[in-house]
Amino acid sequence: MTKLLIATNNNGKVKELQDLLKDAGVELVTPADLDMDLDVEEDGLTYVENAVKKAVAFAQVSGLISLADDSGLEVDALGGAPGLYSKRYSPKPDATDADRRAYMIANLQGKPRPWTAHFHATIAIAVPGMQVEIAEGNCHGEIIPEERGSGGFGYDPIFLFPELGRTMAELEMDEKNRLSHRARAVMNAIPILRRIHPSS
Ligand code: IMP
Repeated sequence: MTKLLIATNNNGKVKELQDLLKDAGVELVTPADLDMDLDVEEDGLTYVENAVKKAVAFAQVSGLISLADDSGLEVDALGGAPGLYSKRYSPKPDATDADRRAYMIANLQGKPRPWTAHFHATIAIAVPGMQVEIAEGNCHGEIIPEERGSGGFGYDPIFLFPELGRTMAELEMDEKNRLSHRARAVMNAIPILRRIHPSS
């Protein structure tokens, strides 16, 4: 079976992508499986640039088809911030996910609610020495001022699905993997994988 490298060092993303791609007809491999320690600088000006940079770097080093995700949270009352810079959204050095959530809520104080927002994911699939393909997905909700739930990662505890009355961190992984930006991007990526590798 063709191997597909999940080109990320984010454990939250690895777990979700392993589940989302489990029936894609490829053997999933992680950087840890290959003892790979590759840190790609995310200095692009778009999600596509960053996702392509990560996928190509992992494909070059591993020689395997590599799938990278670049994603972010865009909050309307913050003019679309932090967006591309979601991973680095906090003035604190060595900030944690909890620091970034607290910083976001502090920046939203005084702004009228609901604090509408959406997650965006861009997936890039790089075939060594060949083309790079792109798939994207979004998911809409709102930011709430108190944390709820312990699942997922990143901003999940403050991202509410108003129609469900639950945050992303209050969903089981299989529920998040039906609704999330990453799930939608993977759904759009599956036909690309089939085209690249017809037996998948
Ligand atoms: P990057 O794609 O490595 O630049 O990181 C994206 C950042 O966006 C993550 O570190 C999280 O802060 C945030 N993010 C992306 N996807 C999710 C998600 O599914 N849940 C919560 N936060 C996310």
